[in-house]
Amino acid sequence: MDEFALIRQFFTQGPTRPDVSAGIGDDAALLQVPVGQELVVTTDTLVAGRHFPDDAAAFDIGWKSLAVNLSDLAAMGAEARWVTLALTLPTANESFLREFARGFFALAAQEQVALVGGDTTRGPLSVTVTAMGTVPTGQALRRGGAVAGDDLWISAPPGDAALGLQIALGQWADELPDSLATQALERLHRPTPRLALGLALRPLASACLDVSDGLAQDLGHLLAASGTGAELDLGLLPQSPALRHIDPAFASVFALTGGDDYELLFTAPASSATAVQALGATRIGRITAMPGLRLFRDGTAVDMPLTGYTHF
Ligand code: ADP
Ligand code: MG
Repeated sequence: MDEFALIRQFFTQGPTRPDVSAGIGDDAALLQVPVGQELVVTTDTLVAGRHFPDDAAAFDIGWKSLAVNLSDLAAMGAEARWVTLALTLPTANESFLREFARGFFALAAQEQVALVGGDTTRGPLSVTVTAMGTVPTGQALRRGGAVAGDDLWISAPPGDAALGLQIALGQWADELPDSLATQALERLHRPTPRLALGLALRPLASACLDVSDGLAQDLGHLLAASGTGAELDLGLLPQSPALRHIDPAFASVFALTGGDDYELLFTAPASSATAVQALGATRIGRITAMPGLRLFRDGTAVDMPLTGYTHF
């Protein structure tokens, strides 16, 4: 199968949108950014053996490569519209491509994003997605807007993906019922980008990011950008059913330093608290003028090492 047949067979599908003047098939896509809106662009690469195991399910690779990018748009409060896909493949394996496309387009259809172009090359398996969305000018959620006194919130319990990774590596599975192990693996392989929440937070949140490299590390980025500190109450941190099942000391490590959650971590003034609560988020602490992250449990200071994932 040549490159063009491959593109036609597997990637000329998915949602179509009226804001696409030209998609796949020309030298570049032509996209209509509505007047009064800013274009929001993000890109992320997934490399075999680094971001997913070599034997990962093709469906999951397709889903996750899109999900991690849409999560970045969610964190900015953007409306997701368009994506491009740069695919490097060792061979044109049809069953791999069919399953990859099934996973990719399952999420694309759910979020009504159109695949408008890409590139297809031969080499070690790697997937780069660029996602594009829009936000009314000046209304994007940024990392730098938190102020002392704001509440600190998270969209859902963190740490399941880190537990899922341990299970995938053959650890911990004995300590959990199958149904909980499966839940943790699903959160690792098929994360949910919180796009609807990101949109709803535009008028409510003061700062926002998505947790991809561990809650503590990513919170550090938000605090640095905002020039503030935070007090995080471990007693308030929501715990997934799977994490509630394991040794609490390990559960805290997964929740605070595990990567791949793709939950939104954000701050909001106290005046927004009722509205934010109604969106299903959980308050986990507050922003302080004093820099740095301080952990508490039920009013008592807690000390634990907090390092997240870095590539280098
Ligand atoms: P060019 O050589 O002009 O860069 P290509 O031959 O690489 O164009 O691609 C032909 C068309 O197919 C372009 O519109 C490109 O955006 C699209 N395309 C290539 N690979 C993919 C892919 N993996 N997914 C979606 N569209 C793709
Ligand atoms: Mg090309």
